[in-house]
Amino acid sequence: MQKLIQPLLRATGLLCLVTSTAFAAQVLGPNSNEDDLVPTGKGWGERAYPAPPRADPNGNASGKAGPNNNGIYYHGGPLILGGTNVYYIWYGNWSGNTAQTILENLAGSIGGSPYFNINTTYYDGSNTHVNNIVNYSASTNDNYSHGTALSDAAIQAVVANAIGSGPGKLPADTKGVYFVLTSADVTATSGFCTQYCGWHTHGTISGSDIKYSFVGNPDRCPSACEWQTTSPNGNSGADGMASIIAHELEEATTDPDLNAWYDRRGYENADKCAWTFGPTSTLPGGAEYNVTLAGSKYLIQRNWVNASGGYCSMSY
Ligand SMILES: [Zn+2]
Repeated sequence: MQKLIQPLLRATGLLCLVTSTAFAAQVLGPNSNEDDLVPTGKGWGERAYPAPPRADPNGNASGKAGPNNNGIYYHGGPLILGGTNVYYIWYGNWSGNTAQTILENLAGSIGGSPYFNINTTYYDGSNTHVNNIVNYSASTNDNYSHGTALSDAAIQAVVANAIGSGPGKLPADTKGVYFVLTSADVTATSGFCTQYCGWHTHGTISGSDIKYSFVGNPDRCPSACEWQTTSPNGNSGADGMASIIAHELEEATTDPDLNAWYDRRGYENADKCAWTFGPTSTLPGGAEYNVTLAGSKYLIQRNWVNASGGYCSMSY
């Protein structure tokens, strides 16, 4: 079974469990061939009510003819331009866990890489392109403020609680992506491990359009959300999260409000390459990796290049 059809969930057979009452009426499974879908941020298309204007496949949403059809279309919304700022909210118990070092190194070094440069092939209606810049801005901790089973609303509340002034608070940054990273004893009730491994969305927080993402610890469900249990940095949960963070980061940059770049199935750039890695190298202990960032090795999924007809790659 191709993993491509389940962008952010490895396991098959769990997919039909669209049980969330909030989404049951609208969400289509990733097997759907229906056109005119918009992203849910959770890795597969959701029907639009009403359907958005479909971009001309040979041009952009303004109707200006473009030279190529790259398999992904611009729908007129904003991108994060000039660099993306990453904020981590460590939710639950991460004490003594090497995840903080592994994932802070990732956020601090992915910008400027040939990998993140893929996102520079995406642009807005003024033809302003994404920059190959990611700043790891700040982090904070949340000691189970909403318990161990987080609803989507609770996850937004965790982000809202983290933003403010004073010690331990994060700034309200419209060029930021706020990652809620949960420890392995925490779940997300709209479908972590059964319908997705992570997602991104946006909401109005402190009067600003704040982009945020949920990424759970895949040690909770390795068969669904982890590619390998022997991992390059000796922490299977954190190494699994690295690929999911990269996925959500590049989608939040090129489709922050879920109305910019996605294809006719509602797949955003990283969705189109989920769980594909290209050539990998193997460490003596057996862990696979495909990229080295600031001296650390990671196994990170490929991303969709919006050029030359479109293709999955680890670099541009
Ligand atoms: Zn996605």
